[in-house]
Amino acid sequence: MYLEQLHIQGFKSFAQASRLDFLGPQKKTKGITTIVGPNGSGKSNVADSIRWVLGEQSMKLLRGKKSEDVIFAGSDKKARSGFAEVTMRLLNEERSAELDYPEVEITRRLYRDGESEYLLNKNKVRLQDIQLILAKANFGERHYAVIGQGMIDSLLALSAEERRDFFDEASGVKPLQFKKQQSIQKLALA
Ligand code: ATP
Repeated sequence: MYLEQLHIQGFKSFAQASRLDFLGPQKKTKGITTIVGPNGSGKSNVADSIRWVLGEQSMKLLRGKKSEDVIFAGSDKKARSGFAEVTMRLLNEERSAELDYPEVEITRRLYRDGESEYLLNKNKVRLQDIQLILAKANFGERHYAVIGQGMIDSLLALSAEERRDFFDEASGVKPLQFKKQQSIQKLALA
């Protein structure tokens, strides 16, 4: 799966709807897209938006305190946003995600009143549906798919047990662990 496009609206410093196109495999050279800009211009917010749309729940990792902190807070020129929305479009030509579509669009939206929703190809779904599809395609919100600032340092400092989690995702056992967790939860409720 390849990240093809990102739509960001009302998320952190992205007051206006913005579209980022990434170099995909169709351009012959499997591209690397680099985002440059001065300190504080919002480069890390792009990485945060990727983490967030993939379902990240940890506000600490998203560099905020409460979930509402990801919504554009307003500036001298522009009023604050009522919601934050990020859509990620992934190329799924090899069908790594178990969906019969050549493109997969994942959307996460959060309103100021706390209401939130996840969409998969514009249909409302549960977060766990997205997580399972992504886990099967080895594409998670943490670990190796999105490596944040300082993460390599902290990876080196992790205990062997903690570091295993990182390799579990890379080796593809995450979906099985995810299913196991779901079954344990179901049994606990039975
Ligand atoms: P550096 O190079 O220093 O790491 P950066 O380019 O990665 O910087 P970010 O950390 O992505 O910059 O962006 C920080 C900016 O985002 C700050 O100006 C901050 O005020 C703004 N910001 C973060 N959250 C919000 C929000 N909810 N509403 C408006 N602006 C926000």
